Amino acid sequence: MKTTITDNLSWNKIRNSVIQTEEFLSTGGNLRLSTKEVFVDRILMKYKNDELNEGFNNLEKLAASMHFFKAKQLIDNSEVFKLLKLMPKGGLLHGHNAAMVSSEWIIKNLTYYPGLLKCTNKDGVVIFSFRKSDSHNCNTNYELVANERNRSNNPEFYDRILEKSINLYVPRPEVEYPNIKVVWDKFQNIFLTVNDFIKFLPVFKAYHYRLLEEMYQDGIFYIEMRHTFSQGYDHKNSLSAIEMTLELLNVVKDFKRTHPDFIDLRAIYQVKRRITIEELSQQISQFLTLRSYFPEFIIGIDLVGQEDTGNSLYYYYKLLQQLSPTNRFFFHAGETNWYGVAADYNILDAILLNTTRIGHGYALVKHPVLWNSVKRYGIAIEVSLISNQILHLVEDLRNHPAAFYISENIPIVITNDDPGFWNAKGLSYDFYYCLMAVGSNRAGLKLLKQLIINSLKYSAMTSNDKNIAIKIFHKRWNNFLDHIIKNYNLYNSKN
Ligand SMILES: [Zn+2]
Repeated sequence: MKTTITDNLSWNKIRNSVIQTEEFLSTGGNLRLSTKEVFVDRILMKYKNDELNEGFNNLEKLAASMHFFKAKQLIDNSEVFKLLKLMPKGGLLHGHNAAMVSSEWIIKNLTYYPGLLKCTNKDGVVIFSFRKSDSHNCNTNYELVANERNRSNNPEFYDRILEKSINLYVPRPEVEYPNIKVVWDKFQNIFLTVNDFIKFLPVFKAYHYRLLEEMYQDGIFYIEMRHTFSQGYDHKNSLSAIEMTLELLNVVKDFKRTHPDFIDLRAIYQVKRRITIEELSQQISQFLTLRSYFPEFIIGIDLVGQEDTGNSLYYYYKLLQQLSPTNRFFFHAGETNWYGVAADYNILDAILLNTTRIGHGYALVKHPVLWNSVKRYGIAIEVSLISNQILHLVEDLRNHPAAFYISENIPIVITNDDPGFWNAKGLSYDFYYCLMAVGSNRAGLKLLKQLIINSLKYSAMTSNDKNIAIKIFHKRWNNFLDHIIKNYNLYNSKN
């Protein structure tokens, strides 16, 4: 029956009640903020509104709507971003080890390591390594990077060119990456460029220590990272996957010694989704062997690579189904903008396989049965906003389906996927887009706080570790609030 509201008072009452109910039902909507939090929220909202209003009137300044490569400078200067950088982020639950450290640091440090060789393969992809191997498929001779650099008139310029081989940044992404294939090809080539380079033990150790540093500096104090477990090498020998894992654990131990409030790094065994069923079977055996050595460190398994062109979970499901439930899955699924195809149904098979979380879940929005299940069973979606934009799923992140997940309070966590490949250190840039583009204009500290709590709640930590993590979070959160209250006020842009 259609009703007619005749007086303004009732109209506004109903209107406000709908707005408030929707806010209450959204992610973080039912949190109660303390007096301190309310104060900080007001500061945050002032900056947020100022920035969005300015962007509304000058769209060329609306970083929230822009491609990250064009928005980065604006974001770096944003007061909201500066505040987000200070905020503790909790756990990082989706990143790939080979793609997490900033390319600038790699070039300035690791490529200066003596003995680094470089060649170009038949597809024009630069390969870095400390050894010669047929597996590199070199089409050119190997050159010592140090010699090339010395011969160049301008080592700074040489390094900038070198960095291009491990970074996707281009000033005009719409021209240089006209479609998903072009950008995915370049993206996957970067993994090829660094693959053998970071298996060299001294580099492997320095690289992973830096990874922990960069994440920690951005307020992350727990990490679950997709990791390629493989053999490595040093000057003399090849090293087994077990030896390399022991080295990695030593790096983490060293880091924790000097960073006592960093809880831990855990790894998800990643396998490429292009392999045959027999190859997956072998990989699973290796995963089980390694897991028997490192049951705490290796928390589960995942299939990675472009879903549109790779094998579906349905293709492998009979094999995956045989794994005992003590082996958790963390499947990439639904990282596609196709609908009703194999990649799209990966989400369905991931849920049927009892996945612990879903990587990306971009396509989930189109499947009401599935998003209801995800909500009911608490399967968190690992949302990687900048990754989805750069890898061509969405241009303007205000159109990202995570806006719907937030409005429905579908469990999500904010993750960074491959930040080193696109100049996004840590998680702050992804949080920026989440707050400014994906969340409602009215969403502030409640949304942020819930997302951080989610990153601990939906992690694979034991309940004991989770309690420790929550304590660390509260302490760091309080320090963050105090810092903002002390250094910012509502009336000046910044003290
Ligand atoms: Zn990923």
